[in-house]
This record gives sequence, C-alpha cells and structure tokens, in this order.
Amino acid sequence: MNPRVVTFHYKLTDKEGNEIDSSQGSHPLSYLEGTGQIISGLEDEIKGLTTGDKKVISVSADKAYGQKNPELVFDVPKSQFPEGEELSVGMMFQTDEPDTVYTITDIKGESVIVDGNHPLAGVDLIFDVQIVNIRIATDEEVSHGHVHGEGGHHHH
Ligand SMILES: [Zn+2]
Repeated sequence: MNPRVVTFHYKLTDKEGNEIDSSQGSHPLSYLEGTGQIISGLEDEIKGLTTGDKKVISVSADKAYGQKNPELVFDVPKSQFPEGEELSVGMMFQTDEPDTVYTITDIKGESVIVDGNHPLAGVDLIFDVQIVNIRIATDEEVSHGHVHGEGGHHHH
C-alpha cells in the first residue's frame, strides 16, 4: 500500500512558549510519509493520529535540528564583507558553501560573529498540531516523492 499524505495545522513554540512558526491563518501543511519532508521526531508522533486529532508534541533538539555546533561559529573581520554593506545582527547570508546559511549574531567593533548553525539548532520544539486530513498517496505522488494538489508545495 502507498504511504499516506497527512495534512495538518500546527503552531510551533519553544519551551518558553515563544511562537516560532504557525500555519494558523494560512494553509495547513501537507507531507508525504517517509520522505523526510518534516522532522522525524514529529512524523513519528503524528503516525498514530487520525483526522481531527489534536496533540501537543515535544521534540527534543536532538531529534529536530540537532545541537549547536560551535565549529560553525566564526569571528569575521568587517573588512571581509563587501564594502558599504550595512551589517546588522540577525542578517542572514550565504557563502559558496551550499546549504549553509550564516546569521550575524553579534557585532563588536571590527569583528562580526557569524553562526552557520540552523536557527533552531539546540532548541527543544513544541508542536501543537491538529490533523486536517489523511489520505493514501497516489502512485504519481509516490513516484515524484512529493504531494500534489491542495497543500502540496509543488505545482506542475
Ligand atoms: Zn510531482
């Protein structure tokens, strides 16, 4: 049997209750089971739910975006940034390395601290989820490895 397509609303907070992300007021999220579209710690817990269910799911940093890697934090002299670039804390940029986004976390005089960790690395996540719909994926979705139609992030 084909895997399932699960559509759900969620509110994501950290342990202190600060909202990080939410699908409320927007479209619910859909994913194809077993393709790694959502973090495994969340998918494992959603597996046992059915349409209409609500659940608060805690996912430790280890099972979400991992712990912070101190080796991805660098102290870069301001002179290495393009001239005239307005630098500020929270600014994000990419380098030649694929898949790594750096965030400026501090600026001290001529030294700029940049962090290549995922913004949610080291954060224990709390998902408040509500299952909107569960259906069996079509053969086409399985062969493409993603969801089509309503809630799909991919149109063609
Ligand atoms: Zn497709």
